[in-house]
Amino acid sequence: MKRSALVCKKLRILISSGPTQEPLDPVRYLTNRSTGVMGRCLFEAAQQRGHKPTLIECPTMARTARDLERVLKAQLPKHHVLIMAAAVCDVRPKNVSGSKIKKDKLEIVKLVKNPDILVNLSKIKKTNQVFIGFGLESENILKNGLKKLKSKSLEAIVLQEVTIKNSPFGNKNVKARILTSDGQIKIFSSVSKIALAGKIITLAEKIKFRII
Ligand code: C5P
Repeated sequence: MKRSALVCKKLRILISSGPTQEPLDPVRYLTNRSTGVMGRCLFEAAQQRGHKPTLIECPTMARTARDLERVLKAQLPKHHVLIMAAAVCDVRPKNVSGSKIKKDKLEIVKLVKNPDILVNLSKIKKTNQVFIGFGLESENILKNGLKKLKSKSLEAIVLQEVTIKNSPFGNKNVKARILTSDGQIKIFSSVSKIALAGKIITLAEKIKFRII
């Protein structure tokens, strides 16, 4: 904890969760795998500690990456902490058709990159705000995690491994590593999502705040 820690009774914690969706036409869309359980566990853990969490669930409250960016941008100034557990679709179809695309026209769908929400929000981040991200990696977990921690201006990143054999989706217990910007690494070899959520909230409390 820094000497200049902000003293407060409860933290206002903004949590994004679930998968974003990128429509191609009225019936088809691109998405990422995500159950949204981690986000709901974070919301519960924050409430149990007496904090004031706001949960933005995708795709119901914000469908696309650009919708989510707009919602979070509006909400961020009212919060001390942003926990970005949403599985954001990195690309979207360049054009969205107003009518169902015929099967034989589906082979060529042009994709464009979505904005990186955390990178964009870091431009309006205040010095006393804390950003925590999530990362799924199939290889070089720590190296790639460290890169994301820096490029997205995060105080911490929660890393999980994903391969065909080892997938965290829908599992009760997960293996997670938490990397913090002061260079510390915490490894949890098998932890329930609610217990992991509690550890993330504890971490969020300690980084820049003094809870009284
Ligand atoms: O997809 P990636 O591994 O880069 O995700 C790392 C973190 O960045 C996650 O917290 C995710 O919610 C966030 N992210 C984002 N905007 C994107 C993609 C991911 O804010 N376009």
